Amino acid sequence: MNKKTIRDVDLQGKRVLIRVDFNVPLKEGEVADDTRIQAALPTIRHLLDQDAAVILMSHLGRPKGAVVDELRMDPVAARLSELLDRPVSKLDDCVGPQVEQAVAEMEAGQIIVLENTRFHPEEKADDVDFARQLAALADVYVNDAFGATHRAHASTVGVAQAMRDKGGAAVAGLLVEEELRLLGKAVDDPEHPFVAILGGAKISDKISVVESLLGTCDRLLIGGGMANTFFRAMGYQVGDSLVEEDSVPTAKSLLDQAGGKLVLPVDVVIADAFDNDAQSNVVAPNEVPEGWQILDIGPKTVATFESALKSAKTVTWNGPLGVFEMPTFAAGTFDIARLLAQLDAVTIVGGGESAAAVQQVGLADQMTHVSTGGGASLQFLEGKPLPGVEVLDDK
Ligand code: ADP
Ligand code: MG
Repeated sequence: MNKKTIRDVDLQGKRVLIRVDFNVPLKEGEVADDTRIQAALPTIRHLLDQDAAVILMSHLGRPKGAVVDELRMDPVAARLSELLDRPVSKLDDCVGPQVEQAVAEMEAGQIIVLENTRFHPEEKADDVDFARQLAALADVYVNDAFGATHRAHASTVGVAQAMRDKGGAAVAGLLVEEELRLLGKAVDDPEHPFVAILGGAKISDKISVVESLLGTCDRLLIGGGMANTFFRAMGYQVGDSLVEEDSVPTAKSLLDQAGGKLVLPVDVVIADAFDNDAQSNVVAPNEVPEGWQILDIGPKTVATFESALKSAKTVTWNGPLGVFEMPTFAAGTFDIARLLAQLDAVTIVGGGESAAAVQQVGLADQMTHVSTGGGASLQFLEGKPLPGVEVLDDK
């Protein structure tokens, strides 16, 4: 990577502001899944080893620029304290005189979690003054929020610029470095055969990924809701299935471009309602009756995908192959997760729901890498720059 990381700068005794991705799911006021907090620990520990004073900031949920009590960072700070087994202070804002005072009084090895940055509309607006106030809190800025690097917000982009303006360093954390290394290898120099799997709800989210993957992969396996739009492009009636009619022409031209690379489901699980207890059946994709909808790939498709995957040396997977949140329609997604776990290949899973599905079957640690960033990993696979990385200091 051509960007500086925390290993390239002197952090001894410094005040360090880290943008982390602590946007974790909450349930009844507690952290329901701490994967993202765990992912930030190596960077935090590295800084503590250097006797730095550690100031952490993140967004949490979508408070839309106002204070929302349910989206305060307190449960996150509490979980972090448990994980590190040391005290963590939590402040009630991320800028302002009280924050400035608390930060000025920090000692080496102390940890402060600032309040949800999205309580301020200036965060999403990448407001220069707000970014300056954040940068004023520290000597060094670190971005370790891989899942937020595709967004040009004050806590990811503005603050890095403001830090440089005042003569401080703006560098990547260890998680960002690791994500970029692993995803970068799949993008720039994948070992072949390289098989990409795409699923998820909507094709419109992923058209440019399809285009860029068609350039680099040997096979592109498509399932999930996005396959339906391809079926429509092939002239199939798909009943009440999720289809984006606007994208049908694009799907047609992708099919033309793809040659033999694109592999679509040969059978699908259909249901007479979007309900786990609906009547269900397995049919060919051109045999979906009116009033029924496609909710998973079928067993023949799993076998077809398996034969494409068997010899793969690199696999990227983004987007579930069915509505795995309902057990009746989870088999396709879970079978593919199990297949990947057994492969002798580099396996990279990106995307919020796909990562959750892999976690749910307990196979996350059987993959080479499960990305913490859904949107960011997609944008990276598309070959587009990540603003939160671009803005960091060059090596
Ligand atoms: P990711 O977060 O992994 O990138 P997406 O956000 O694109 O994935 O899509 C995930 C959603 O797609 C899941 O919630 C899943 O229920 C839904 N999905 C998958 N297959 C279908 C389908 N056939 N019809 C409707 N929704 C689907
Ligand atoms: Mg998603």
